[in-house]
Amino acid sequence: MAEASRKTNLLKKPGACPENYPCHIFRIADAEKAHNEFHGRLIRNYGDQVWLRDGSILHSNHVWDDGGRRLLRCKDCGGLLLKQTSEFHGIYGEDGYYEDWIPVATEEEGEMLNILLDALELENYPCRHLRGNNCSYMWIGDEEAKPCDPEDLKRRILEKYRLKSMDVFRKRKRRE
Ligand SMILES: [Zn+2]
Repeated sequence: MAEASRKTNLLKKPGACPENYPCHIFRIADAEKAHNEFHGRLIRNYGDQVWLRDGSILHSNHVWDDGGRRLLRCKDCGGLLLKQTSEFHGIYGEDGYYEDWIPVATEEEGEMLNILLDALELENYPCRHLRGNNCSYMWIGDEEAKPCDPEDLKRRILEKYRLKSMDVFRKRKRRE
């Protein structure tokens, strides 16, 4: 418990790269094993779409028929992961189930990436991350992921969606 709160405090230091980034599973070469070794708890459920305060939808959080995004914290190392799931419902029962697990440095970075990246962009995340394809896992992406500056992500969000301010997003109540 003391260990967990020490790590949370570290995350609040602006500009600091948390010592638990990326989560320990990113150092496991075998992707199946890495997936099996991850035990997380839910930090945020971002749901299946990103909404603006006026009720309009900015983008969907899944590529196919069903799915969504969650921010999870590793129970072993405290590292954060943004997980997107996308389910394809085939008319003859040949469903497809896809997952992408992206390392995230802070809760704020997770929130900003959720807003910035639409479902396809997250699926094609260029940096090394864990991909699930019908429950078979692999590492994809060439470059090592690096923590992003949340202020830079905000600038990219405003530019990409031609917004004047971040106030158009619903404020989330923190569950403390
Ligand atoms: Zn971990």
